[in-house]
Order: sequence, then structure tokens, then C-alpha cells
Amino acid sequence: MYKPFSQTDYKPSTKPKALYLRKSKKNDGKNKIETIESQLKQLTGFCKEQGWNEYVIYNDYVAKSTNLNREEYKKMLKACLDGKHDLIISAEESRIYRTVYEQTNVYEELKGTDIAILSIREGYIFPNDRNQFLTNILRGAMNQQELENFAYRMNVKVLASAKEGKYVNKTPFGYFKDKDKLEPHPAESKTFRFIVEKVLEGFVIAEIISLLNRLGYKTKSNKKWKDVGTITRMLSNRVYLGESHYNSKMFDSEVVVRDTHQSLITIEEYQEVRKIIQSRSRNPQGIRYTKINTVLDRLVVCGKCGSRLPIHKSWTNKQGVTSYQIGKCQKVLGEYNDKKCSNKSISLNELLPHFYNAIESYKEALIEEIESVEIDITNDKKITVMNEIKDIKTRITEIKSEIQNAKSFLIKGILTESDYVGLLPPLEKDMKELNVSLEDNERLLGSLSEYDRRSVIQNAIDSLNNIENESIETQNRIYRTLFESLELVNTLDEYEIRIKEKDVFQ
Ligand SMILES: [Zn+2]
Repeated sequence: MYKPFSQTDYKPSTKPKALYLRKSKKNDGKNKIETIESQLKQLTGFCKEQGWNEYVIYNDYVAKSTNLNREEYKKMLKACLDGKHDLIISAEESRIYRTVYEQTNVYEELKGTDIAILSIREGYIFPNDRNQFLTNILRGAMNQQELENFAYRMNVKVLASAKEGKYVNKTPFGYFKDKDKLEPHPAESKTFRFIVEKVLEGFVIAEIISLLNRLGYKTKSNKKWKDVGTITRMLSNRVYLGESHYNSKMFDSEVVVRDTHQSLITIEEYQEVRKIIQSRSRNPQGIRYTKINTVLDRLVVCGKCGSRLPIHKSWTNKQGVTSYQIGKCQKVLGEYNDKKCSNKSISLNELLPHFYNAIESYKEALIEEIESVEIDITNDKKITVMNEIKDIKTRITEIKSEIQNAKSFLIKGILTESDYVGLLPPLEKDMKELNVSLEDNERLLGSLSEYDRRSVIQNAIDSLNNIENESIETQNRIYRTLFESLELVNTLDEYEIRIKEKDVFQ
């Protein structure tokens, strides 16, 4: 039976209160610096005033503002539905939901319960009170609009400042910010110059890092230098040329203003440094050679079009085990490059059992092959056949010259036509026989070289024994020695993997 709530006679039960904390987007700006402590103090202070001493704190404050998962909120909701709380306390309503969409979701989840929300700013909110519904949603819509307007105004402001030549990005190493203007940082700008000069002198970045650390130069966060990428990225940043760049995602606008601050590098030095760094790169295309992460690294190709398929991390669980995903084929097809290859992505965990099965059948095929090759073949026999072939070839050359001679003797009149006719057919018959014999012997020699193939196959079989228990690196090395690629077909109606042997192996 539905029982409407009345704010005036609402008395919370003695159940522990649920205190919910979440960073407010509005306060991400500069005006009001809010800390988690201040928000928590506000909530616990309020409870103390009311004489409520039992509460559980749910804190989504720590999560990044872009993280929409709201783990603590989910935990709190579950506890509420399990009957542990009947009052959620928050500094303001917008901490619990920022959009009307979120708000109606919360209301939906709390439907049919007697759970109430107490916002220090808005007062009691009863999600199940029919009479409050319209005003609640309207207030939510206004909150959302306010939030969006705020974000919009912030972005307009930042963009306008950027256009005026104010520096709106994070302060780069080498500078400090003085009223929206970059000024060379006394220590850091020296470090930056040191790096530039060392690059120009021919030191590689790794050596420069070691020099910096030995001489006690620190990063902006006062740490030791570590990452080559940090320095290469720094050296490609045009901020050191005195330029200010700002990229507004909201307005899809790129602002570049020159001479907004003192440069730390000349354009000539900048270009020279870029040239030096690029020339050193072993792969100017920028392909990253990272460590082997999975047994199938650099092996999987699309079985439909032959493009290499990337393998990337998908997630890491609490035990630190990382899962990988073989990416979908990115190849564009069709006259207007408007169609994508139909190969879908697949998780490595799903693919691996099939791959190991394929390895098993591959190994069985190798064993079968090795058993079919005769064992009594010796090197001696090989030599005999090779000598035989040599003899046949000599004989063929001789007969060829005999035929040639006969022709010239005929032309010169040394040989009569009737002699020539009598001489030629036996020679041609011999020649034919020798050619057949040559073919046979060459085929025989070919089968005798199976002797070497035997050892190659045996090697392959040996290295594939118990391969599943080898380390990722070892497995990957062996697979890449034996196989050209692993072709994967994984479309809506097809699933197939094909191991492709290396040419040298055939
Ligand atoms: Zn493809």
C-alpha cells in the first residue's frame, strides 16, 4: 500500500546513516577550493548536530571525475536495498546525481522503498513521494542546466584567455606561471638548456638522463629523470619557442599565439634537435617495439585480408593478471574506402585453446611426415646419385656436341646426307634416355635431401613438446621461428585459425 511521505512528520529510523561524498564538478574550477576533508567535516558535523552518531561513509570523491562507475554509490545503494540504511545524506543533491538521467535512475532504483535523501542544501527529498516527483525532476533539470552552463562558461573563458595569449595549459617544465604568463623558471630553464645543448653535442637521451641525475637536476615534481619519452616529447613542444597552443575540445578549436613568453630554444636549435632525434630513431614510422606481452605477439594476421592484427591490453584484474584482446581488423575496403574488413576482435583467452589445439595437430602431422620418410637413406647414397647425375650431364653435353658436329659436317659436305640421317636418330634416342634418367636421379636426390628435412622436423617437434609450459618469451620466439603467421578468421559466420609455416621450412 502506497503511503505518501510528509516532510514535517518524517523521523529517520535509528539505522546508521549513509554519508555520500562525491567531488562536485562546479567546484573543480578555481574559485572554491574544496577538499575531501572539508566535505566530510560538513557531513559529519551535520550528523553530530542532529545527534546521529552512527553512519557509514561512501566516498566517490577519490575517483576521477571522468570515472562514471561510481563504485561507492553502487555499494551504498546495495546496502540501502539490503535494509542497512534508510537515509542518504549528501552535501547537495547534485553529488548524488548530476543529470536528470542519473536522477531518474536513482529514483527508479529506490522505487518502492522508504529510503529518503537528505541534502544539506536542498533538505529532505523523498524519491517515492508522488507529490514531490515533478518538483524534484524540475529541480534536477535546473541543476543539470546550471552545471552545463558552468562548463560552457568555463570553456568560453579559457578559450577567450587562450586567444588573448594567456597561458591556460599545465605549466611546462622550464617555466612558472605568473598571472597567466609563463616566465622562465630559474633552475628548470637551466636544466632545459642543458638538455638541448647535450642533444646538440650528440649525447643520446638515455645518456642525458644519466647525466642529469648524476648532476642532481630534478624534474618539475622534484624527482629523478627516468623516461626517455618525457624528454623527447618535451623537446618537440613548441611552447619552448615562445608559442602558446590551446586545443578546445568543446569548441573544436585550436588556438596558437606566438611570442606570448620568453623562448628557451631558437627555431634553428629546435629544428636541429628534431632532426637529430628523428635520425636516431630505428623506426621512423614510429612503430613501438615493446616487450613481448603474449605468446602470439607479432604473429596474428587477418585471415581475410592479410593485415596484421594488433594485440592490446584489455584489463588487469586484482591479482595483477592482464587480459589481452586481438583487435578487430582495421583494413578499409571498397572503392571509396568505406567498408571495413569483417574480422572481429577476440580475447586472447578465447583464442589460445584453439591455437594450442592447432599446434597439437600440426605436431601430429609432422610426426606422421617424419615416419613416412625412409630411414636407411645415407649420405653415401646421396653422393652416388650426385655422381650419377654429374655423369649423365657430361654425357648429354657430349651428345649435344656430336649432334651439333654432325650438322656442321653435313653443311661442310664431310658427311653425306644419308650418313647424317643414319647417325642422328640413335644420338637423339640416347639423348632422350639420358634426359629421363637425369630427371629420375634428380628426383631421387630430392628425396634423399629429406634426410636434412628429417632433422628440421625433429627439431620442430622437440621444440613444440610441452610448449604450453614454456615462458611467454620462449613460446613467442619458437612460434616466430617456425611460423610466418597465425591467420585468424573471425567473422559473423566463420571462425578459423590457420598456422602458416615459414618458407624455409618447406
Ligand atoms: Zn582483414
